[in-house]
Amino acid sequence: MTRQIVVATNNRKKLVELRRVAEAAGMDVDFLSLSDFPPYPEPEETERTFEGNAVLKAQAAARHTGVEAIADDSGITVEELNGMPGVRSARWAGPACDDEANNQLLLAQLDGVPEDRRAATFVCALAHVGQDGSLRVFRGEMPGRMAGEARGDSGFGYDPIFVPDQHDVTTAEMSAEDKDAISHRGQAVRAFIESLKEN
Ligand code: IMP
Repeated sequence: MTRQIVVATNNRKKLVELRRVAEAAGMDVDFLSLSDFPPYPEPEETERTFEGNAVLKAQAAARHTGVEAIADDSGITVEELNGMPGVRSARWAGPACDDEANNQLLLAQLDGVPEDRRAATFVCALAHVGQDGSLRVFRGEMPGRMAGEARGDSGFGYDPIFVPDQHDVTTAEMSAEDKDAISHRGQAVRAFIESLKEN
């Protein structure tokens, strides 16, 4: 029977990325989403690190579904802002805000900041809780810089305003496959998938 792993996210785009990377790696896993299970109160992301929040979410999902679980916590860290938005990336412009509002706020905060001070890194921590309660955490990073304005319409979140190192286009102007090959989530998922091959 195909191995089942529940992915503790309500972000469909993250789930699609995960399935795509796993398939490209030749991994036969049935990734279930939280909507396949009765709802449960999801934990607040109260930790100060990506790893800490990923572990909170994966442990809650494993506990409430009875299935082995993974969760990722990700975001963008901007050097000029001392590493912020960081773990606050999803809610940078306020609790009820959308990607567009987050991007506009970040662009405004970096208004006038020259190219050589616009360094930023996308970070992803992915936590896996096995059937036996074992815990493993994988981390991926994609360094780059903040663009001066939004460009491109693929991807999600901060993609339109982030240019990876060694590229001139934003991650929202790249194909999904090209982004996966270098992205923070692509790296963390590939490391996780390699670990699954071992047990
Ligand atoms: P999380 O769902 O709590 O992990 O929040 C992650 C937030 O970071 C999202 O809302 C996005 O705004 C941002 N983010 C994470 N990964 C990416 C990415 O690959 N592209 C663009 N934005 C991302």
